[in-house]
Amino acid sequence: MPRLRIAAGLVAGLFAASSHAASSAPAAPDVTRHQAQIDKIVAEISPKRIDAYIRKLVSFETRHTMSDTTSETTGIGAARRWIRSELERCGAGTSLQVSFDSHIAPVSARISRPTEIVNVVATLPGTQDASKDRLYVVSGHYDSRNTDVMDASGKAPGANDDASGTAAVMEMACVMAKYKFDATLVFMAVAAEEQGLLGAGHWAKTAREKNLNVAGMFTNDIIGSSRADDGRVDNKQVRLFAQGVPATKEMSDTVRQLVATGGENDSISRQLARHVKEQGERYVKGFKVNVIQRHDRYLRGGDHMPFLEQGYAALRFTEPNEDFSHQHQNLRTENGKVYGDLIEFVDVDYTAKVAKVNAAALASLALAPSAPQGAKVRTDKLVNDSTLVWQANPEPDVAGYRIVWRDTTAAGWQGSKFVGNVTETTINMSKDNYFFGVQAVDKDGNVSVASYPAPLR
Ligand SMILES: [Zn+2]
Repeated sequence: MPRLRIAAGLVAGLFAASSHAASSAPAAPDVTRHQAQIDKIVAEISPKRIDAYIRKLVSFETRHTMSDTTSETTGIGAARRWIRSELERCGAGTSLQVSFDSHIAPVSARISRPTEIVNVVATLPGTQDASKDRLYVVSGHYDSRNTDVMDASGKAPGANDDASGTAAVMEMACVMAKYKFDATLVFMAVAAEEQGLLGAGHWAKTAREKNLNVAGMFTNDIIGSSRADDGRVDNKQVRLFAQGVPATKEMSDTVRQLVATGGENDSISRQLARHVKEQGERYVKGFKVNVIQRHDRYLRGGDHMPFLEQGYAALRFTEPNEDFSHQHQNLRTENGKVYGDLIEFVDVDYTAKVAKVNAAALASLALAPSAPQGAKVRTDKLVNDSTLVWQANPEPDVAGYRIVWRDTTAAGWQGSKFVGNVTETTINMSKDNYFFGVQAVDKDGNVSVASYPAPLR
């Protein structure tokens, strides 16, 4: 219906900023329709293959970071060589690039001798010039442990913690490698999470040193079970941990500005989480992404933390209820109760659901434009409407921009308006009473993560 589309464009233009060519505003792209490519990816994620990956990872008996590296059948060396070969096999004929990212960790609290820490990294380069330097990283940790974190030889199957996350990442890499994305995707199986987040820490630090544009990172850690320790089964949701203001001794200027404007809930990780929740729930029907407004479980941590420390947006996926008798436990039976992180306590259909949420979110991020830069709200006059400005996006397929808003007590966006291909607009709502975000929208309806407007003084 071309006539209707033109009319919609004119309406959007009328509401756009007067100082820009409002009449040239394109029709608002349909941002609610499903992208066919994402539906296909979500459908292809296979519980059966995830099950096979977890079983193989468990078969190495232990994947402790300081375990044997020479055997072909047991220990962390065999495990990482298998992960690499499997990714190379399934990525054959695609542009997936698989490599080891290795460094030597010196002796520390949980490292008793200098130890080679090896991440297995599979990179799918973006295909759009303006976006290929924008990276989205997804990880799981393939190392495991039992009761004693220094026990490098006792059995540590680590089926849930974290063969589940590793298997999800491998499955995503294998499925998504057959598709094209504007931005670059990095699939990582990292080591030494249990010894102090050393593998992820090394990669994140190197990324910052190289000034890489990591626009978002998710770790998948303990996504294998839908059953709580009291027996309740909840296979309809996943927790997504998202940091607000970081717990640093001194505030950075960025954080100070956030706090000064009441934006504690609009950190880059919270904005990323809003996007993941919206896209994950759109593509995986009947499954909830339960955003927890904390960096991790109470006083605990994971591989997203080194990314947060380097100033990147980073999130953690974890099952809704953990069962601690199957986490960091020596294999044993006490009073008829089985302890240990065994495959029989993993629900692969559940893990596949979480992998689908990850894949939908990653695909949507890597197909969409970058979050607009330089978003600001004018503060030079005391007025009851809100004028927002931002820089034009670099991607050639951007159709325009969308303003989103919510009440100050709401967690997610409640309203939106497409304002056309402009870099300034006035919304007839007070910046005193709402939080705003600026999003870029491409011609296919892919929407960027929202940018929080800083005060323009
Ligand atoms: Zn873990």
